[in-house]
Amino acid sequence: MAGIAVPWSTIVAVTVAVPDGTLMFALIALADTTLLPEVELIDTVGFPAAVAELAAAIEAVVTKASTAKRRMMRLICISLSMELSLHVEDSHLRLVGATYHRAAGTAARLKPQPANAPAPDTIGHRTFNHNLLESDTVSIDISNISNLSVEPGTLPDKMAAWVVRDGAFGQPIDAIKLEEVDVPQPGAFEVIVRVMAAGVNFNNVWAARGEPVSVFRYGDHPETGHHIGGSDASGIVWKVGEGVTRWKAGDEVVVHCNQASYEDPEVHGLDPLAAPSQRIWGYETTWGSFAEFCKVQAQQLLPKPEALSWEEAASYGLTYFTAYRMLMDQAKIQAGDKVLIWGAAGGLGVFATQLCAVTGADCVGVVSSPEKGALLEQLGATGWIDRNEFSGMMRKGNETPAEEKARFKESRRFCQAVEEILGGPPDIVFEHVGQATFPTSVLCVKPFGKVVICGATSGFNLDFDVRYLWMRQKQIIGSHFANAWEATRANELINSSKVRPVLWKTMGFDKVAEAHQLLSDNKHLGKISILVGATAEGEGKTKEGPGAIRAEVGA
Ligand code: NDP
Repeated sequence: MAGIAVPWSTIVAVTVAVPDGTLMFALIALADTTLLPEVELIDTVGFPAAVAELAAAIEAVVTKASTAKRRMMRLICISLSMELSLHVEDSHLRLVGATYHRAAGTAARLKPQPANAPAPDTIGHRTFNHNLLESDTVSIDISNISNLSVEPGTLPDKMAAWVVRDGAFGQPIDAIKLEEVDVPQPGAFEVIVRVMAAGVNFNNVWAARGEPVSVFRYGDHPETGHHIGGSDASGIVWKVGEGVTRWKAGDEVVVHCNQASYEDPEVHGLDPLAAPSQRIWGYETTWGSFAEFCKVQAQQLLPKPEALSWEEAASYGLTYFTAYRMLMDQAKIQAGDKVLIWGAAGGLGVFATQLCAVTGADCVGVVSSPEKGALLEQLGATGWIDRNEFSGMMRKGNETPAEEKARFKESRRFCQAVEEILGGPPDIVFEHVGQATFPTSVLCVKPFGKVVICGATSGFNLDFDVRYLWMRQKQIIGSHFANAWEATRANELINSSKVRPVLWKTMGFDKVAEAHQLLSDNKHLGKISILVGATAEGEGKTKEGPGAIRAEVGA
């Protein structure tokens, strides 16, 4: 176990060897002599590395850290129980031993010591208790989070939240940690919602991985220093901020995830999605739904559909509202249109399929199994195609001319299959797969037709034969989430059960990291909701109705 000695100044860096072959840096801050040290996991580097390089790396980290950040340094790691042996030598602090063992749900946290704490080692006027970490490992008890000690209108001081910390990125199971954080107060036109259930989306897999960019670059992250993810929620209005008149404590709501500043002119005449301040709440901002309370803008609130339980109501917003904007406002779907939907049993696809049925459009859904095809039949699709029968049409990139010719031939065969089901080429192609399917989408869509796209699961770099676009005057339309008006209109269709959520699984609040790991590993078979304030599935319905479709596969 290598130790490293560094000057014992305002901030001391310690390296800790971890059994899996990485080195973790912990920074111990003693910025204020009246405070006990606070510790934060800063970075990991590959092992082995020369001690000199490590020292340089530590110095770089310390140099880069802002004063605010140094002051904020706290909490090494949750669900990682840690024992350190630190040895004080003259003016240096040396790590002489460290052991790690995982203990899910526990937090290694530094707190002020009681007056009768054991005497610390002393260097000059600074103090450090080397038993502090071991002795102060605490658990965050979430067994009783459905019982609040406060009434609507009053907020507790602290809450349990699943948090990603800057620099502590990785697989969701490691990076999303349970912490106790301060409960936010609502600002002007803001609302604090008690979360009853939260919906899981892929965006917080990206947040956990820190890819393709760190969420800490955006929104209120620099200010708060934490990322509480979760872009879908159902819950109860708990406290409203100044200026809020449409909502009051006790109202039952669902949340759409678009935020923008009221001061941006785009919000008041163009579209909030065009505003420079536009952010996806619970991804590009913190205070998302994987916590006892979340903080939202009042315009994000929608009435909770009465016939849905909490977990059903939390499951659909992000994907459904996105699909609604894509088809209704961007592609301007009409009765009688023909639509091709990729990933039709997926989170977006199940709603695109239902919206086609509601508007009187015919649609063919692409799926990867007969079970998913059966789900589409239940949702009102005209027909479905198993993409495994056309695997040769998928664009991988860098095909040779001969390979591209063969791929193109398969795309043509696929287009014929689409036309056979729909009785002609599609007016609209619903795209989110990206690189693999985009050339086929452009080829397949009718002359003057529209390819509407909101994502690129298989790759962002799209290349296709543009002659099929201009010669046939086709349109490509980019789309991103939805505005409050679209979310409101879409929610009315859920309220009247014309469109229904599709739910695969409901998990407990202790399973937030695991749920995201399922997505990350592609082991999920559909949409997952998390119970937060709700104690069991089925709670929250205030009216009879069909509720969500329970699917073994899809969504
Ligand atoms: P899901 O994983 O639930 O569904 C996507 C479906 O796409 C999969 O079930 C799969 O269906 C299909 N698919 C995946 N890879 C391929 C491939 N290589 N070729 C063909 N089909 C494929 O995801 P969502 O529907 O929730 O989201 C889809 C994408 O849209 C994501 O990239 C997401 O980030 C993005 N998105 C963007 C939003 C925005 O506002 N911009 C909002 C919501 C999502 P099958 O195997 O059955 O074919």
